[in-house]
Amino acid sequence: MYIGAHISISKGFSAAVEQAVSIGADTMQFFTRNPRGASAKQLNPKDVEAFKEKVNSYKFGPIVAHAPYTMNMAAAKDDLWELAIRVIGDDLTRLDELEVPYMAVHPGSHVGQGTEVGIQKVAKALNIIHKHNNNSQILLEAMAGSGTEVGKSFEELASIISLLDKPEKVGVCLDTCHLYGAGYDVKDNLEGVLQELDNKLGLDKVKAIHLNDSLQPLGSRKDRHANIGEGLIGKEALANIVNHPKLKHLPFLLETPGGIDNYAQEIAFIKSQVK
Ligand code: FE
Ligand code: FE
Ligand code: ZN
Repeated sequence: MYIGAHISISKGFSAAVEQAVSIGADTMQFFTRNPRGASAKQLNPKDVEAFKEKVNSYKFGPIVAHAPYTMNMAAAKDDLWELAIRVIGDDLTRLDELEVPYMAVHPGSHVGQGTEVGIQKVAKALNIIHKHNNNSQILLEAMAGSGTEVGKSFEELASIISLLDKPEKVGVCLDTCHLYGAGYDVKDNLEGVLQELDNKLGLDKVKAIHLNDSLQPLGSRKDRHANIGEGLIGKEALANIVNHPKLKHLPFLLETPGGIDNYAQEIAFIKSQVK
């Protein structure tokens, strides 16, 4: 298994790798740009080279970028929908240069248009994005289902993928907090959840896992990340997820509150649980 956390790239990509190493990580996640803003910093070729060298020499597992969560591929307004397509496409092209294999993307919110329309819009957006044939792959993140979020069930994710011209170009990113919020009992019925996942999506679609505890109960449709062991999923269940034979080859990324010192402690804990 590979364990990492969400790291800031404000001091550059190569510095972010060093920070990941300093907290005991062997992979990492970063926002492709300010999560709320839409402007991206220009890539510095020296930084890109140093980043790639470090990722290789430290033998990092697959790195996962994260698209800004304000981008909505299910938007009702054309300008917002087109912006999402442009920004996500642009980010994939930058990730190709960094040789980062994956980018987690929240599918979108249907904002009252209904789930069916939302699913169709997301698929249409992905079909446009996929025309560029990037190497870096979009991972649709399974959502908790708050508000009008699309992608809150394995069925919804499967419906999106079924509408794609190039279904092989997308993977799925699970988030333990989101799954729990969406009603998938990863605490007391992990086997059942993985069985359902395999039936509806195929386990091979899963390329990364966001490892978070949850402040809100099973099926609450709420997305409130808690520190490992301080939420309702608990340390034991999260350790079981990391050790599960069908999941343990994946990169696990923490998105827990508390910043870098907290990540270091949680990474040390997870490593101590690995069998
Ligand atoms: Fe996310
Ligand atoms: Fe997440
Ligand atoms: Zn979340």
